[in-house]
Amino acid sequence: MKIDRSRSTARIEADVELLGTAPYTDSATAICRYAYTPTYARTLAFFEERLGELGFTVELDPVGNLLARNRPPGEPVFGIGSHCDSNRNGGKYDGTLGVVTALEICRLNAELGLDLPLQVISFLEEEGSGFGQVLLGSRIMAGTIGAEELAAVTALDDGRSWFDHAREAGRDPDHWRDCGRALADLSGWIEVHIEQGRVLQDTGKRIGIVSAIAGYAHGDITFAGRADHAGATPMDFRADALAAAAEVVLAVERLAAAAGSGTVGTVGELEVDPGLINVVPGRARASLDVRGVDDSLVRRVVDGAVEVARDAGARRGVEVTCAERTSISATPMDATILAALRRAAEETGEPFTDLPSGAAHDTMSVAVHRPTAMVFVPCLDGISHSPAERSDPADAALAAELTLSAIAELVALR
Ligand SMILES: [Zn+2]
Repeated sequence: MKIDRSRSTARIEADVELLGTAPYTDSATAICRYAYTPTYARTLAFFEERLGELGFTVELDPVGNLLARNRPPGEPVFGIGSHCDSNRNGGKYDGTLGVVTALEICRLNAELGLDLPLQVISFLEEEGSGFGQVLLGSRIMAGTIGAEELAAVTALDDGRSWFDHAREAGRDPDHWRDCGRALADLSGWIEVHIEQGRVLQDTGKRIGIVSAIAGYAHGDITFAGRADHAGATPMDFRADALAAAAEVVLAVERLAAAAGSGTVGTVGELEVDPGLINVVPGRARASLDVRGVDDSLVRRVVDGAVEVARDAGARRGVEVTCAERTSISATPMDATILAALRRAAEETGEPFTDLPSGAAHDTMSVAVHRPTAMVFVPCLDGISHSPAERSDPADAALAAELTLSAIAELVALR
């Protein structure tokens, strides 16, 4: 399938630039667009109007996810979209580019006379900027958040409940369980998103086909030794908590590198007590962040780090405590959709590669129920969640072309 890429590039660029300025952001220096604000409502209205012009029926579901479809409920549709809420100090592309590209796919669908059955979704509160809950709209849709958990969700700014805010915005949050209907008719789902890493840019690729979304394990290892005088305590009399923690920091680096398959491990927080120049550290805490597309490799790194910690503690007379915070399994993408995307990418003649997503996306929620995939476009120096975020609209136009081709093939197959 061939599209007029320069025309699509111009339209995508115009939409992204328009939504990157007032009144579509609450900040003069960044994109600040949080769930249920007037700014957010205006942004949804922008998409509602344009999709309506293309013959789509547009609605907000009970919690405020935007749904637009060109077939009546009950008929199968192929899902495309992303989110248009922003990070607290966001850029123009994270999320929004995916919804803008979905809109462009709908325009092309009409102009090329394809009449493919489509449903656009813009998920509510992906970033967690309003209520501190990432993937909130899509988790509600997927039914992966419970009533109790939802009842406890409050706004970061005023502490009032999510239910109150949703009601004030004209939504009907008591019927949140009905949101799952939007997924029921999806024959498949593709989300276009910026990469948020440097792999595509640094390898000269214009498209990334996401093989899987990484899972992660978050935890803490605490070391309790003895705080002694740094001058009066000989080396073999010490129980240095930080020295034990240091062994773990290096072990995590070594274990993650050895695990392969894109597994990564990071100690990003290190707390030392009392943290004084002349005192042997009595207590230390190291955080653990391990991610990867293969859950067994993630587990191997975590188990290895714990083993190193216990061994270091035993040798050094330091007591070791390990606690897991949260862990989420990796989400594999659908093999049939991936194959269609790779064929479509081949056809464009442009450089592309398979890669895992290290970041979480709404697609993880859709994947609980439906076959899914993601397409990444490069972003400058891997920067995201920042006003410095940049992405080339020409790459998004290319993503629109190959996503449309893949959907055409998948719909014909069915
Ligand atoms: Zn995003």
